[in-house]
Order: sequence, then structure tokens, then C-alpha cells
Amino acid sequence: SKIDNIRNFSIIAHIDHGKSTLADRILELTGMINDRAKKDQYLDKMELERERGITIKAQTVRIPYTAPDGAKYVLNLIDTPGHVDFSYEVSRSLSACEGALLVVDATQGVEAQTLANVYLALDNDLEVIPVLNKIDLPSAEPERIAREIEDIIGLDCSDPLMVSAKSGLNVDRVIAAVVEQLPPPKGDPDAPLKALIFDSWYDSYQGVVVLFRIIDGTIKKGDTIKIFSTGKRFEVTRLGAFMPEAVDIKTMGAGEVGFLCASMKELGDAPVGDTITLADNPVAEPYPGFKPVKAMVFSGLYPVEPSEYETLKNALEKLQLNDAAFSFEPETSQALGFGFRCGFLGLLHIEIIQERLEREFEAKLITTAPSVIYQVDTVGGDSLTIDNPSKLPDPTKIAAIREPFVRMEIHVPNEFVGSVLALCEEKRGIQKNMAYITPTRVVITYELPFAEVMYDFFDKLKSSTRGYASLDYEIIDYRQADLVRLDILINGDPVDAFSCIVHRENAARTGRSLALKLKRSIPRQMFEVVIQAAIGNKIIARERNAPFRKDVTAKCYGGDITRKRKLLEKQKEGKKRMRRMGNVEIPQEAFLSVLKAD
Ligand code: GDP
Ligand code: MG
Repeated sequence: SKIDNIRNFSIIAHIDHGKSTLADRILELTGMINDRAKKDQYLDKMELERERGITIKAQTVRIPYTAPDGAKYVLNLIDTPGHVDFSYEVSRSLSACEGALLVVDATQGVEAQTLANVYLALDNDLEVIPVLNKIDLPSAEPERIAREIEDIIGLDCSDPLMVSAKSGLNVDRVIAAVVEQLPPPKGDPDAPLKALIFDSWYDSYQGVVVLFRIIDGTIKKGDTIKIFSTGKRFEVTRLGAFMPEAVDIKTMGAGEVGFLCASMKELGDAPVGDTITLADNPVAEPYPGFKPVKAMVFSGLYPVEPSEYETLKNALEKLQLNDAAFSFEPETSQALGFGFRCGFLGLLHIEIIQERLEREFEAKLITTAPSVIYQVDTVGGDSLTIDNPSKLPDPTKIAAIREPFVRMEIHVPNEFVGSVLALCEEKRGIQKNMAYITPTRVVITYELPFAEVMYDFFDKLKSSTRGYASLDYEIIDYRQADLVRLDILINGDPVDAFSCIVHRENAARTGRSLALKLKRSIPRQMFEVVIQAAIGNKIIARERNAPFRKDVTAKCYGGDITRKRKLLEKQKEGKKRMRRMGNVEIPQEAFLSVLKAD
């Protein structure tokens, strides 16, 4: 298609502001979804995404569109993942676009992820069109929110698009704005091929499917392409676009967005952010800014039944095929036996993977508390990278430990400022800035240890602001800190899976609270169970569960038989996820006790 008639755009928004709903309406209005195929939120493909209301895998649709004046356009709607854990993917998807629709819920206003996404869009030089959504709701205040967008973001919002993505009201104007206000791509179809990979996934029939945006040049089916970072060559066996089903296209030129298949076996053959060029006429410089995604949070995954080890391994291998950011390798724990050390982008990513494993593979898992990566300098002069607290060297051998820090922006109504500051200070935060973006809304900027954020920060923030706070964070650097390993002993034996790394100042308090939490989550047994917290050889907390003599049902006074049965069933249910440490049964939730709020 003619480059001047192409428009490549994304929709960006804070979660729940209506991005997916607007995308569906646009697809409907342009005839891309017929009633039979119509589902709620077509773009959120996977069942899991629909239930959680988040978009994990970016989906892109090519929309042929005829304007009221008869001019024909090709609109490429590029969907982006919606969460901080996936911000690199968001950024790469955005760099495949010339513009973005910024959806803001007219009952809520600008939130942390609204701003974070706008910054990513502006970093990628996109033209941004604000869209006020949910104006069908009586509580919508489009005029006030339009002023907020002007004041906070600095976008012109004097004549904003006001829509209801739900009812479809004014969505036609949104499409007209895409055509009229967003610039067409620039690029030279005769230059050597330079195409940006902005998404890829594994398909069991096609192998790796690559979504790309052509910056310069032209690509045809049958071409031999080269992936810039690896130098690997592949023959293009299939070329096309999603409309929304896959449609083959013979040749595509500068500015176009499409997919290709080229007998690639794994996602590493087509890393997101990398550049595709032609093997026999390569471009000199790749598309800038490529960085391979790196796991930042690590956690152990163990089968509940040791005999399910192979099943779990197969499940992890399948998952990895579709998730380049997820990594795993075998590890052994004294307490849990054979399992895997897994790497994730962040906490949401862990939750997603865990849920997928349980759903798609029916795997029963024990997950250990997540850990960040620590940089350790030893007395002997070695530099180590530690992603498992139990691997931390003996304190006498450590010269220095550094931990990752994040920069966090928290948006909150002004009445909650006090509690947010208190929370950030408790988490060893360093305040960097505090600004009123409107008379009643404040942005608080802190630098915090990533490990402190991982534990119960989100829960605490939510409860102390009645759910009104929103946040965004990024990892900025590693800083030296006085950190020690806290060990847990059950009846005298250390349980490696419970070890965690904490700041020395908080060690005693954390040790006491962890021992108490474990006492509560480990059911009483037929013998005494002693739980101790220790730093090195020093015991800093001790709790004890007295032996348990009677059957649980005894307290039902024999009368109510259904209640008795329920209790027994519950007891059985509780057994499913137990692991035996020596002779002590420990339930799954105990392994995550470290994470829970006090
Ligand atoms: P996303 O997280 O930005 O993709 O948001 P969704 O599209 O999933 O929408 C979040 C919720 O808001 C859903 O329950 C939608 O039905 C609802 N919603 C979206 N647009 C509108 C709208 O224009 N009016 C109303 N009343 N609800 C909407
Ligand atoms: Mg969505």
C-alpha cells in the first residue's frame, strides 16, 4: 500500500480505563469483527487475559479503511501489554507506531500508568491523541479531566474526543482522528531492508511467528533474512498480516506492519527489539536501542509430588517457548528436593506464570518466596551474582553486597500523602520529589530497594490508600547495603527454602514476625514443633507449636455430621500442598509467609 495512506497506532491507557473495549469497537466499526466471531474483548486472546482483564501478548490488526471522502487507508492497530513488568515490550511496540490514542477514564483521570505510557510514547516521538472514555457514566467529568490532561501531561485537550467505548458513541470520530491527525510513516522502500521485531511468539504449527514493522526496504516471501544481533539466517516461508485472522501478503514495503514465519525454532531466534535485514543486501546499522530482556526476580518452583518433576519440566519448557522473559534451570533444595530456579520480569509475571502452569498443565506447585538479584564481592576478590538467598556465602567471606534499587512514582489523592510517606520510609525509601499535579492529587517520587517493594508493598499501599494510589517503577541501579541472611530452623534443622536476605536493622523484627507467621501456618502435629529464626549462629526468635492430641472433629461434639465431614475434607484438602521436612508437614502458604503483610 502507498506509504502516505498508512497509519500505525497504539492505544495506551492506565489499566481498566477502556483500552481493550475501545480496540474492539474500532474493529467492529471497521467491519473487522462480524457478529458471529464477536467476543467480548477480541484482542485479549487468552482466557486468562480475559479473566484478569490484562493484555499479556501484544496483538496487531491490519484494518483496511475507506474514509468518508472515499480515500483508502491501511490502519495498523498495535496492541501493547499493559503492565510495568512488560514496559520494554510496550516501548518496542510503540516504536513501531507514529501515533497513539491515549485513553483516559473520564471518571478517574490521569493515573500513574497513564503518565508512564505517555512518557514511553513521547520517548518514541509519537503523536498522542487524548480520548476521554466512559462519558456514558453519570460520574464522568470530561471537562475537569481534560484540564487535568492539559495541566499534567501538557497535551492540547481544548477540543477532546469524548467517547463511550462501551456504547460506541463517537468512536467513528476516533477513527477519523487517527487518519487526519497522525502522520504517515516515513521510509524508503528501495533502501536495504531494516525491520523492527516488536513481538514474537511460538505457534505449534508455524514455529516462531514474528511481528515486525518495516522501517526501510521491502520484504517478499522466499527472501533470506538475517537477524541482526545473532547473524542467523532464515528463509521467509510465510508473510502476511492479521485481519484479524492471518492473511497472506506477497510483498510488503517501508512503513508496513506484518508477520512472518521462517522455520525458527525458538523465541531467541527472533528477540523482541532486534532488527531483521536481508542476508544478501544487509543494512549497515540496526534499529537502535535493542536490549535483550532480563529476569529481575527469581523464585523456586517445586512439584508437590516429587514424581511430578518431569511433568513440571515439560510444562516449563512449553511455557518458555512462548515467553522469552521467563527462564528456568534445575535446582535442588534440601527441604524441597528437585525443582527449578525460575526467572521473571516482576511480581505480576510470577503470578501469571504460576496461574498458567496450574491451569494449562494442571501442575501442583510449591513456590518459594521471590528474591531479587544481589551482587556480592567476596573477601577473596570474586564478584558473584546471587539469585537465591541460600547461596549467599558465609558472612565472614563477604566484602560487600549490593541490591537493586527502583525509582517509583506514586499517584495519590492528597489525603493519603501521610500514609504513603510512612510506608515508603518503613521500606528504606529515599524521598526524591513530591508535587501537586492538581490541587488534590500528588505525585510522590521515591527510590527504594526493589526487595522491599517485592514483599508486601503493593498490598500495604492499597490498603493504606483505600485503593486510590497508582504506581509505576523502574529498576535504576545497584547500591551497597548492610544485608544479612535470615535462616529458619524447624526442630533444629535449617530449611533452605525459607532463607531470605534482609537489612540488618530489620533482621530482628523480620525474624520474629516470620517465626510467628510460620507458627500460625504450620498446623500442629503429633509432636512439638520448634521454629527458630537465626542470623549465622545467633538465634533471634523462637516459637513453638505444642503437640496436638485430638482429631479436629472432636470439637464438633459429635452432633453435626455434615460439618464434621466438611472439616475432614478441609483437612484432606490442606494436605495436598504439604511438604514433609524431616517429620514436620509444612503447607504451601508457609513458603510465602515472608511475602505477607503482618
Ligand atoms: P483496559 O484494562 O484498559 O483494557 O480496560 P477494559 O477495556 O478491559 O475496560 C475496563 C472496564 O471498563 C470493563 O469492565 C469495561 O466494560 C468498562 N468500560 C470500558 N469502556 C467503557 C465505557 O465507555 N463506559 C462504561 N460504562 N464502561 C466502560
Ligand atoms: Mg485490556
